[in-house]
Amino acid sequence: METVGFIGLGNMGTGMAGNIQKADYPMVVFDLRAAMMQPFLQNGAKQASTPAEVARLSDVVFTSLPGPKEVEAVATGAGGVLEGIKPGGIYVDLSTSRPTLIRQIEPLFRQKGAHVLDAPVSGGKTGAATRNLAVMVGGERAIFDRIKPILDAFGDKVFYAGSIGAGSVAKLVHNMIGHGIRQAIAEGLTLGVKAGVEAEALWECVRRGAVGRMSGLHEGIPRMVFRGQFEPASFALSLARKDILLANELGREFQVPMPIANLAEQIAIQGINRGWGDHDSSVTFLLQEEAAGVQVRAPHVDAERAAKFISTHPDMA
Ligand code: NAD
Repeated sequence: METVGFIGLGNMGTGMAGNIQKADYPMVVFDLRAAMMQPFLQNGAKQASTPAEVARLSDVVFTSLPGPKEVEAVATGAGGVLEGIKPGGIYVDLSTSRPTLIRQIEPLFRQKGAHVLDAPVSGGKTGAATRNLAVMVGGERAIFDRIKPILDAFGDKVFYAGSIGAGSVAKLVHNMIGHGIRQAIAEGLTLGVKAGVEAEALWECVRRGAVGRMSGLHEGIPRMVFRGQFEPASFALSLARKDILLANELGREFQVPMPIANLAEQIAIQGINRGWGDHDSSVTFLLQEEAAGVQVRAPHVDAERAAKFISTHPDMA
């Protein structure tokens, strides 16, 4: 079994390294906070005094650090992983960091005959502790395949995202979408409560409707966006615009600022002025594609199969 080095035993690192250790990999650990290493040492891990020493003693080195500043220092700074990495060694950064940084770091390791993957995770501290964790991996496919068993030891949803940096791009996109959705939910729930609906009832209505099912993400994207096909409409843009207009009207009536909702209405108006009122409401995706100068297509994805992901019933979850 490979010896696994782990640097950064914080909220996420402790859970992930703990699951690697439970899977019986010999381990070497390092954290600036000595106390965080104790449980691992008690279970037989070796303690290193620098990231370079971790790399010297390990076949695969993981880092789970706060952000790009720490990753750069630990990977390539004095006494860093690069200094100690062996030819054939593999360095994997699990932090949420800058894709450009890992793309700059990777050639430095390649020059020493070593390999780099970026593998940010999603699932939080509890997910890390319980192996309920998505892992989004960028780098060489063959290296990903080689260490997949170690990734499986702490992640139950391990995805290969593409070449180096792809994991970090996917993670940033994931979190950016999450924050945007959170703002839209905040606008909607403050509107609903101020307009007279009990918070719990409102929340139930939203989470059991199409929004809570995420049907647009699971089924709408593969069926329409991935094919660039927005007809026939399952929900016409003109109807969607009417609904968001009524919601924004309500927001004005009750003095609830709703920046995302108003922006979404403006975008819907642009779509209608293109003559797309009868197309599916997801057709506004084309405006974003045009503005971004890129298309989001994957026509081979089976939309029916993707739709099976949707569940409205708690007992089916
Ligand atoms: P954390 O601050 O709890 O852990 C970071 C650890 O790194 C700490 O133990 C710290 O002592 C150590 N550290 C910092 N600098 C170091 C250095 N130079 N050398 C050695 N050790 C060093 O952070 P976290 O919540 O575990 O997050 C880690 C990464 O995972 C971040 O990039 C974060 O964005 C990402 N992430 C966090 C969550 C979450 O819910 N907490 C979820 C997904 C992803």
